[in-house]
Amino acid sequence: MTLPTALLEALHASFAGDALSLGEAERLAYAYDNSRRNALPDAVVFPTSHEQTEALVRACREHRVPLVARGRGTNTTGATVPVDGGVVASFERMNRILRIDPDNRLAVVEPGVLNGDLQQALKPHGFFWPPDPTSSPWCSIGGNLACNSAGPRTVKYGSPRENTLGLRAVAGTGVGFRCGTYTSKGSTGYDLTRLLIGSEGTLALITEATLKLTPKPSGLRTLRATYRDVSAAARAVARIMAQPVTPCALEFIDDVALKLARDHGGDSVPVAGAMLMIEVDGEPDTLAGAVEAVSRAARGDGLESLQVAQSAEETQALWSARKALSPAQRTISPNKINEDVVVPVSRLPELVDGIKALAAKHDVLIVSFGHAGNGNLHVNLLPRDEAERERAHACLAEVFALVIRLDGTLSGEHGIGLVKREFMPLALQPETLGLMRGVKAAFDPDGILNPRKLLP
Ligand SMILES: Cc1cc2nc3c(=O)[nH]c(=O)nc-3n(C[C@H](O)[C@H](O)[C@H](O)COP(=O)(O)OP(=O)(O)OC[C@H]3O[C@@H](n4cnc5c(N)ncnc54)[C@H](O)[C@@H]3O)c2cc1C
Repeated sequence: MTLPTALLEALHASFAGDALSLGEAERLAYAYDNSRRNALPDAVVFPTSHEQTEALVRACREHRVPLVARGRGTNTTGATVPVDGGVVASFERMNRILRIDPDNRLAVVEPGVLNGDLQQALKPHGFFWPPDPTSSPWCSIGGNLACNSAGPRTVKYGSPRENTLGLRAVAGTGVGFRCGTYTSKGSTGYDLTRLLIGSEGTLALITEATLKLTPKPSGLRTLRATYRDVSAAARAVARIMAQPVTPCALEFIDDVALKLARDHGGDSVPVAGAMLMIEVDGEPDTLAGAVEAVSRAARGDGLESLQVAQSAEETQALWSARKALSPAQRTISPNKINEDVVVPVSRLPELVDGIKALAAKHDVLIVSFGHAGNGNLHVNLLPRDEAERERAHACLAEVFALVIRLDGTLSGEHGIGLVKREFMPLALQPETLGLMRGVKAAFDPDGILNPRKLLP
């Protein structure tokens, strides 16, 4: 696509100097994301204010030119790939923490603030923002909100939807607006805040967020439980979630993942049929009771070992298997298919057994691990050659069908983006998709915001 001259003039007027990139080398740097797909944008701009973002959306709308918001490009679904060209708006320079307000338990931030930087800034105040993707040092709050990204702590503290009070944004119409509250309660009309969270930049560009803060517990204990097989570990997850002490992390690792981690991470990774990593937090005088309650639930048929870390070094050693996993997978398959399906916790045993059966049926290597306390499993298909890649795609469709049969859904935290769009009709009724299209048309009547993402 060649940008209309009038739009280029409008971009030059709003984005002076290096706030506008038109050179091919710079554009290339914003063509791809962590999905490893790519498409070249025609221009990249770096907004630094809400007003500038409004002017940008209005100009793109006037010329019907696609506009794709970008945080740091770490999403896994191709959500920032500008498939139809157009303009990429990178919010990396809009990165100020505007206010930290412990009395009201909130922080107001611009979208380009990195998750890790926010957590560091909150530490001296004794607070944290619960969403904690593993990519925290590199991903932005805007990206976290747009994908409803989460991590291990979600099991106890919730995702961005439960931890955001309000937003300022610019709809695809070019109209700027605020939604939500600065208060911890609010019942004033439709909840547009939750609607925008998880909308992957298809409805509006977020220019400011009011985040709900949580006091940081002063104590944390880490437990590691190994099991005879995946079913026994999955049943333990359901038992742990059925008792009153909610862990702040409850991570599952299957036998294939453990073997992989051991090959790459060394002998500290246990040999087992499956493993759970469990963390409980709280004030020091409550922790012993919490550890005891969770340990009682973790014990049961198939438990092989249960260890409680006694020091920071031991905690690190217990987590070593989980940490070794991501790099290990890329060495086997640079083309790994990384899904993050989610089912009700009580159906987890059926999911892990079903995935094992599908891996055998399609003769595909599948590694499963993830946030089991939410029923959220990262199911990674690791094809090693072209033939396996074809089998993996056939297998993937059956994985999604299984998940839907178990009352689950396609994504727990990565979102839909480009790569899962075609599967949306599996998860949602035509009527539901129709309403979603109506919402999209209300916010973005000309379809300029992140086209060909999320909705099939
Ligand atoms: C090593 C690694 C580990 C990861 N671990 C996790 C994990 O544990 N949990 C998890 O959920 N994800 C994880 N991810 C995925 C990724 O980090 C998250 O999806 C993250 O939230 C994306 O943030 P980002 O700033 O990179 O956003 P981007 O990838 O740049 O954008 C993501 C989406 O947000 C939209 N967007 C960005 N900014 C705005 C804005 N201001 N307004 C409107 N829309 C906007 C984009 O258009 C796009 O649709 C991981 C990724 C990596 C590379």
